[in-house]
Amino acid sequence: MTLPEPSRGAPREAPPLLSDTHVHLNLDRFEDDREAVIHRASDAGVRLFVNVGFDLDTSRESIALAERHQSIYASVGLHPHDSAKLDDAFLEELEQLAAHPRVVAIGETGLDYYRDLSPRDDQRRAFREQIRLANSLELPLIVHSRDAKDERGGALADVLEIVDDEGGGAAGGVMHCFPGDVEHAKAVVARGFHVGIGGPVTYSTRGRLFEVVKGVPANRLLLETDAPWLPPAPHRGERNEPAHVALVAARLAEIREMSLTDLARITIGNAIKLFRIPDASRPSIAYEMGENLYLNITNRCTNECYFCVRYESDTLWGYNLRLDHEPAVDEVLEAVGDPTRYREVVFCGYGEPTVRLDVVLEVGERLRELGGKVRLDTNGHGSLIWNRNVAPELVRAVDAVSVSLNAADAATYESVCGPKFGLATFDHVVGFIQECLKARLPVSVSVVDVPEIDLGEVQELARGLGVPLRVRGGGVPRRRRARGSQPA
Ligand code: SF4
Repeated sequence: MTLPEPSRGAPREAPPLLSDTHVHLNLDRFEDDREAVIHRASDAGVRLFVNVGFDLDTSRESIALAERHQSIYASVGLHPHDSAKLDDAFLEELEQLAAHPRVVAIGETGLDYYRDLSPRDDQRRAFREQIRLANSLELPLIVHSRDAKDERGGALADVLEIVDDEGGGAAGGVMHCFPGDVEHAKAVVARGFHVGIGGPVTYSTRGRLFEVVKGVPANRLLLETDAPWLPPAPHRGERNEPAHVALVAARLAEIREMSLTDLARITIGNAIKLFRIPDASRPSIAYEMGENLYLNITNRCTNECYFCVRYESDTLWGYNLRLDHEPAVDEVLEAVGDPTRYREVVFCGYGEPTVRLDVVLEVGERLRELGGKVRLDTNGHGSLIWNRNVAPELVRAVDAVSVSLNAADAATYESVCGPKFGLATFDHVVGFIQECLKARLPVSVSVVDVPEIDLGEVQELARGLGVPLRVRGGGVPRRRRARGSQPA
């Protein structure tokens, strides 16, 4: 089987992994296309979102989103605009929400002396209470501060004074949509805070935010969109969405005079550390890419394709696919949740799924009963592994099969894929394709574009078999490895 590529239209090389640490995907403005917006962001490389609550309803909605998407985490809090709502019952409920395992921060809290929608005494009281809550739970703060200067010193000055008073920032925090100049930024960093930078950094080539981005340590910068608000150029006037964080990242990379890859890696690392993202390094059984969900049920494989990405890295598209155990059926089903949220659920990870045929059959059947569409990406060795024709058994569990053909003859297949079953394997792979067709399973085949494989000959073979062929990028050129050194 060959590991997945980005969905339609995306480049062959994976984009740098990005983070959007301040987004409001729960809002009505995403009602009609929320899943598509998340998929677009995923295609743009966004692997970590913090969806920010600003009252009890939006905090609950943030948690619900985080429960549905493994890359989304939640914060809970009360915005300064609504500070007058804060009473004991509100605080008690906020504390209960904050205990949810998907909650990674308190906020958005802070002070807004620009719109002054709540009395300033209420704003300061609500901010203090939320700092105390964050400190007691050892969670970082997401702070909103607007109108840094007036005759009384301004919101940011009061924010810093209250933070100092309350011993705030015990677990750090972020000054979202950074409102000050470089001196303010240094004061914030000195208190253990990060600086959140979003769309406004793209509005001019130099200026206040240019100096801020240049002037603070890279390990204190966070990327954010504040979507649906504050779209970066050239999207001003449109609804913002998290995929646009790529434009913010590109601008920061330009200002810092570093590569986009380095900037993206540093900022997602900052976010993981600040929000103590628990799943970042844990192996993924299920991982989202584009509109599909992929299932990684084993790291065992009966091939040793020299181009296989699993020899290069534990991670693919930001997901750790090196399993610490092979998941049971219930674990896999729990990792999927509702399969109808995806275009397809695909058996495809760092190993050959039919090594665990019983799990493929049981999980596939259950997912189809739940209304999901299921595909098996396989190297086509299932019948060889189990010493029987497994194609008819697959009919109940999968809607389609994609077989990595990867050659037009046995010798090339042996050389490129290093099958455990030797030279005869290729004929068995072709036989498996024919058996699937006989069982009326829709079959497609794929080939990796590497120099040893003649794509024209494979195309000819696929045509003869009557199945569509998909050519996949070989990705980063890899050296041929000595066989027998495959992990797991
Ligand atoms: S070694 Fe196995 S998992 Fe890797 S590309 Fe080849 S068939 Fe797929």
